[in-house]
Amino acid sequence: MSNDFDALRLMTPGGDDGYAHFNAAGAALMDQSVLNVLTEHQQLEARIGGYEAARQARDAIESFYPTFARLLNAAPDEIAFMENATRAWQAVFYSLAFKPGDRILTCENEYASNYIAYLQRARRDGVEIDVAPTTDTGDMDVAALEAMVNDRTRLISITHVPTSSGSVAPAAEIGAVAKKYGVPYLLDACQSVGQMPIDVAAIGCDMLSATGRKYLRGPRATGVLYVSRAMQATLEPYVLDLHSAEWTARAEYDVRNDARRFENWEQNIAGKLALARAGENAAKIGLDRLYDRIQDLAATLRAALRRTPGVEVLDRGAALCGIVAFNVDGWAGEAVRAALFERGVAVSVIDGWNTRIDAERRGLNEVVRASVHYYTNEADIEKLIAALRGLMRS
Ligand SMILES: *Cc1c(COP(=O)(O)O)cnc(C)c1O
Repeated sequence: MSNDFDALRLMTPGGDDGYAHFNAAGAALMDQSVLNVLTEHQQLEARIGGYEAARQARDAIESFYPTFARLLNAAPDEIAFMENATRAWQAVFYSLAFKPGDRILTCENEYASNYIAYLQRARRDGVEIDVAPTTDTGDMDVAALEAMVNDRTRLISITHVPTSSGSVAPAAEIGAVAKKYGVPYLLDACQSVGQMPIDVAAIGCDMLSATGRKYLRGPRATGVLYVSRAMQATLEPYVLDLHSAEWTARAEYDVRNDARRFENWEQNIAGKLALARAGENAAKIGLDRLYDRIQDLAATLRAALRRTPGVEVLDRGAALCGIVAFNVDGWAGEAVRAALFERGVAVSVIDGWNTRIDAERRGLNEVVRASVHYYTNEADIEKLIAALRGLMRS
């Protein structure tokens, strides 16, 4: 794989024909090499059968674990392959035991699916939810978060990068707080893995979830879970099967001794192989390098949007990544999305309730989201801006 971003764009089939895709945060464009791995394995399955194909590809399948261990600075036995980020997150969250009065500490940018799960455990188990505040500059207030930790705090659980803007949470500073008070720390890194360097040891998280299809450029319905060895020892999965456990005697079972205790037996093998390749590709380019590129492109896009009359850029905070959020004066998000798509530009619309606490505080019903990846180029950005200006003249 070349280190040249123009060459990487040329190896992206979706980058043809002047189509400007600004939805890496929804589902990024796959690299040709990833697509090849996916379809070649499916063809092998069709030719010789799924079990036989898996046996033939065994080493490549197994490489998933060391590949993601290297990418996250973990050990291979701390990695599980999951159906998506939500299942990965749920696998650990629903395995945690809570008593009435136990507290979960989260953040204002928390993702709706996670917060709904907190609310369910609040109803079912009587847990209470604490939300650490964000300052007026849009940064998480880690000192305030620390002040909210008490002897009933059983979990710190936050979103690293929200679905709805470019702010990056100070994950490692929060990790230091978790460590200081001995509270388990779950990080939703769905938008950050593949986008920026992630080191679970430096962050200090015990559990981390990520998806395949976003910044990792893997196929849909694939995900990754990291669970530290120490955490595994205290966490029996809330569901088991004949892969995550072994039926050792009529009345006995043993749970697997690695993070695969959170997996099921049946897996999307072609997807797993393709995601392993996507992970290798990211490592080869270098996460530092590709994150620099993404941040440069996002800064260029934000600056161009700010120069566009009627557009308000909504990203706030000291650390900003490749997700760019904005609204267009007098235009509903869906109308912007549809009009831009007609002009060959793909963006997303995120309803406020995806990150309800932040949206309510800021009075945002929705945002238009344009997310860049390293294969985005300046011509794409010009196309987006020209399309926006065209739409506002119409
Ligand atoms: C997309 C997203 C998820 C869910 O990922 P899936 O792979 O769709 O389950 C979770 N958290 C955040 C912050 C996301 O953006």
